[in-house]
Amino acid sequence: MMRIRIVKADITAVDVDAIVNAANESLLGGEGVDGAIHRAAGPELLEECRRLGGCPTGEARMTRGYNLPARWVIHTVGPVWQGGGHGEDELLGQCYRNSLGLAAEKGIESIAFPAISTGVYGFPKERATRIALAETLRFLESSALPREAVFVCFSAGDFGVYQTALDAALGG
Ligand code: ADP
Repeated sequence: MMRIRIVKADITAVDVDAIVNAANESLLGGEGVDGAIHRAAGPELLEECRRLGGCPTGEARMTRGYNLPARWVIHTVGPVWQGGGHGEDELLGQCYRNSLGLAAEKGIESIAFPAISTGVYGFPKERATRIALAETLRFLESSALPREAVFVCFSAGDFGVYQTALDAALGG
């Protein structure tokens, strides 16, 4: 049974139990997917985020989804790319593991991820995609929840990168 799906979409419109936000450590909103999620969820999301008091890089926190189709938002903070020698791979892996762990703990059946750190934070796309898929495949092997993980690509180019990386991950 295939528990991973790749789609080209705006994550704010994806109908799953939880969407993941590529947030920053303040959790107070930002550019890119973070801004889009806050706009779509409405001001109550920012209010709940304020009460969380931030989140260190690599960790994850959960809030309600308010006006989003998704009932929950899992906020995780990806690493800023600094050339690859500053623990970026490990920190990005932690984002996926901690988001999936939180989802499993809360009984979440379906979760959707954006391409964490690959926008403003500058993480190379192919490398980030390999980490995202490897961590998720490994997690799902040993956990019944979440039942399904959806990778949401914002561009046709990203969709191709994910398809190629998934074929490679499954093939060898
Ligand atoms: P980061 O700061 O972690 O790099 P960004 O939001 O800048 O986060 O980018 C992360 C990824 O999210 C990029 O691939 C970007 O194209 C994508 N993205 C931006 N807006 C959306 C959206 N509405 N839905 C899904 N993905 C999005």
